[in-house]
Amino acid sequence: MTLKRIALGTLTLLILAVLWFAYQINNRVALTTYIDYFLAKQATSDSAPLTAQFLGTATVVISDGETSIMTDGFFTRPSMLTMLTGKMEPDPAIVEESLARHKVKNLAAVIPIHSHHDHALDAPEVAKQTGAVVIGSESTANIARGWGLPENQIHVPSEGQSFQFGQFEVELITSKHLAVSPFQQDLTGIGETIDEPMEFPAPLRAFKEGGSFSVLIKHPKGNVLVHGSSGVKDGALKDVRADTIFIGIAAVGSQDAETQQHYIAETIESVDAKTIIPIHWDDFNTPASKPLRTFPKIMSNFNNDIAPFIQHVKQNPERQLVLLGSKDTFIIL
Ligand SMILES: [Zn+2]
Repeated sequence: MTLKRIALGTLTLLILAVLWFAYQINNRVALTTYIDYFLAKQATSDSAPLTAQFLGTATVVISDGETSIMTDGFFTRPSMLTMLTGKMEPDPAIVEESLARHKVKNLAAVIPIHSHHDHALDAPEVAKQTGAVVIGSESTANIARGWGLPENQIHVPSEGQSFQFGQFEVELITSKHLAVSPFQQDLTGIGETIDEPMEFPAPLRAFKEGGSFSVLIKHPKGNVLVHGSSGVKDGALKDVRADTIFIGIAAVGSQDAETQQHYIAETIESVDAKTIIPIHWDDFNTPASKPLRTFPKIMSNFNNDIAPFIQHVKQNPERQLVLLGSKDTFIIL
């Protein structure tokens, strides 16, 4: 009798736990609340404007029609279950479909902002399919080598080195990853490096941070900064000016107000950006073929993550905040 009761009690607890988990991973902020910030149609008389696309996480494509530059190039987006319990590798079919869906053409470079899987996983496959070069840390280079990308398509820049692609000049500026809990730090190897060519498929733990970068993309029509890692290195951007900043907001809402203001001061204010485009707010376990949606609140609460940036543009009306969906093309100039 007692045994039966214990079994029943355990079963009830188990069911409740499953229901709680199912609720939590589906409880997310609806984007409809922020509809006013989503891109309204822009007019241009320029036949070849400088454009930007945001394709989820920190994947951004900047193009002048003749040359395109991409950060990250993350499309495989493994499910949460695979990410946490399985092994991951690029899916060439998903990469091919995604590049075609977003009409990515003339890609010269793909630049992971750091080597975590949600940034660097697919960069070597994107490079294989497009002929672009991968530019990144030595850890990113080891991911690319492990996926069989030839050495002449892999560049590890020295500090301050810049690259010319068509009319673009690209520079990687050493930055800092968001500070996370000791548990997450251990799980995702923050401050650690990948020292050997990666063996694919690889578990989450293998994708160590390997150093983080801001990517400065200069063009005669305007400068763009992609700053995706939600952390800052003080003074790193003091000599940088960028009209448009793509800024990572993941987990910003879980920081204290002072840290949030410091982040904004060292990025948006420092480069004097006129247009602020939040990135890294979408759930990176959602397939690339689906519309972007916010993280489950339990992972990162979009309302709290975006609030300091909305407050900033309200106090600084010379700046605008624009949200992009993956079907939008933003005209920079
Ligand atoms: Zn990361």
